[in-house]
Amino acid sequence: MPAHILVAGGGIGGLAVALALSRQRHRADVFEQAAAFGEIGAGVQLGPNATRRLQQLDLGSGLAAIAARPDALAVHSAEGGSELARMPLGDAMQQRYGAPYFCVHRADLHGLLLDAVRARGTGTLVTAAHITQVETSDDLVCLSSADARAWEGEAVVGADGLWSMVRQELDSASAAQPPRVTGHTAWRAMAEQARLPAALRRRQVDVWLGPRLHAVAYPVRGGDWLNVVVIAESAPAGDARDWDQAGSIAALKQAMGRSCAGLQALLDAMPGWRAWSLGDRAPLSGAADMAHERIALVGDAAHPMVPYLAQGAGMAIEDAVALADALGDGSAADVPAAFARYAEARWARNAQVQARARRNGEIFHATGAMRLGRDMAMRLLGAKLLDQPWLYGG
Ligand SMILES: Cc1cc2nc3c(=O)[nH]c(=O)nc-3n(C[C@H](O)[C@H](O)[C@H](O)COP(=O)(O)OP(=O)(O)OC[C@H]3O[C@@H](n4cnc5c(N)ncnc54)[C@H](O)[C@@H]3O)c2cc1C
Repeated sequence: MPAHILVAGGGIGGLAVALALSRQRHRADVFEQAAAFGEIGAGVQLGPNATRRLQQLDLGSGLAAIAARPDALAVHSAEGGSELARMPLGDAMQQRYGAPYFCVHRADLHGLLLDAVRARGTGTLVTAAHITQVETSDDLVCLSSADARAWEGEAVVGADGLWSMVRQELDSASAAQPPRVTGHTAWRAMAEQARLPAALRRRQVDVWLGPRLHAVAYPVRGGDWLNVVVIAESAPAGDARDWDQAGSIAALKQAMGRSCAGLQALLDAMPGWRAWSLGDRAPLSGAADMAHERIALVGDAAHPMVPYLAQGAGMAIEDAVALADALGDGSAADVPAAFARYAEARWARNAQVQARARRNGEIFHATGAMRLGRDMAMRLLGAKLLDQPWLYGG
């Protein structure tokens, strides 16, 4: 008999795990607190490690239709504007890793996953279900919502993001600890490229590194739209849990300080700035941080990270495929052992990515002598420094 699994959270991780489980014939019901399934207006870069998994879920052609395939990744100085390093993406990534490097709009990726889950039709999708309680017995689990509804199943997957409540059910020292509020803020904006001056349109990923800040710009939606994110070490006044706070170009420029004319022109041209506070957790310290008996975590619920390696969604997608592989066509009785195998297979890689993301933040935002050393290394080593075979090949 296939297992009946309750997934708390219908973001990219929750939908990816529901899809992966349904492909193994399990029933996965998804419970999302928002009134409708959706994603904020921001971009996501997907390395070959993530696109390879999406291809395994039969989303390869759908993904190619919504994505932009950038030609290259170029790193610049935010103050002077000069190019420090460049790595070809496009065909080079496909040849090297057997899968593409894509940039997508979050809502497009989320919509692709949602359509695929709906098309399988093996579970229910419940909105306006803010899960507040998880109860477990030997072979059953029960989720309860804030409005006093309850659902029973044979296992729970917590895909409820940075502020996960499901993780409190783990048998691990970190389970009850809140995430760290980093004090770093991401400002983001999106625009149709046709509405921007020709000099500001892009077919590549551009990164600018400055003291205590960095900025990233890349195309999405087949290259028709441009996504820009600036991350600075300054907290907005709003709620740390709110991913979608009003932002302004004036507040952004105040947080940034001095930057080159090219970057200033791009930021000035972008409409509708929004802001969100960044949180993370210390790298996972063992399998117990990812699963316990009939409860498993995927994505940010398990291993939230600063976005300085552009891999949070990638790791959520990797988790989803690994969790479904661990359960295979097993039954409800196999769930505890399968979840234990899943956690054992995933925790060390996720911890490595979390640690590397934090380290990248120190390098990207470096000041003084460290910054000079970084720039020199980038100029000398270029693509060798930017490529990540351990990550993209995994
Ligand atoms: C500025 C920035 C840039 C980024 N860039 C990249 C990138 O380029 N590439 C990349 O791979 N990653 C990137 N990331 C990381 C990526 O966004 C996250 O890792 C990813 O969205 C995590 O997905 P998730 O499904 O685990 O969690 P979430 O996206 O947080 O989804 C959790 C879902 O659960 C729901 N939920 C929460 N609590 C409950 C509850 N109690 N009951 C019911 N539902 C609940 C939420 O409403 C939400 O829908 C970036 C992040 C930031 C902040």
